[in-house]
Amino acid sequence: MEKPSAPPPIICLNDRVLLHYAVLNDSVGFTAGHGLLFVGRKEIGRVPCLAICQDKESQLVTLYFCDNDWSPMGIGTSASVEATKTTAERIYPGSSASWVEAHFTEEETKRFLDELWAAQRCSFCGRLPDQTLFAPFEGNGNARICDKCIRQFSSQLGNSKG
Ligand SMILES: [Zn+2]
Repeated sequence: MEKPSAPPPIICLNDRVLLHYAVLNDSVGFTAGHGLLFVGRKEIGRVPCLAICQDKESQLVTLYFCDNDWSPMGIGTSASVEATKTTAERIYPGSSASWVEAHFTEEETKRFLDELWAAQRCSFCGRLPDQTLFAPFEGNGNARICDKCIRQFSSQLGNSKG
């Protein structure tokens, strides 16, 4: 079976940072019928990886049920890391021994996002798509312009008229 890779500093864009992660080995059990989480309308099954992230805009933490590439297949929210681990232990008995504390810095998270969005950055102001309303408009070569720049330039053009 394919071995899971090292986890990224965040799983989704609404995370502040990855706090803890677990790669579940064969000794970890699985309780069906937990009824807690659904993908579509189906209860989530056994996954190889779990991740706990600090939410960007609240004190809540998110539990991600991930595949080998740390792509989320299901999520749950909780008030604390401990509560999240308790929930995980109920679904995956033995998982509590698998948790590893992640030590990502803000800088590493920023760099990860920069690389993720490198091809999306506005050529004029450097804004990333999560700081604008729309994806940037593509020009020739690698030129891109975001909606905020378009609005700013267009109002400057409007002011200079007459
Ligand atoms: Zn811009």
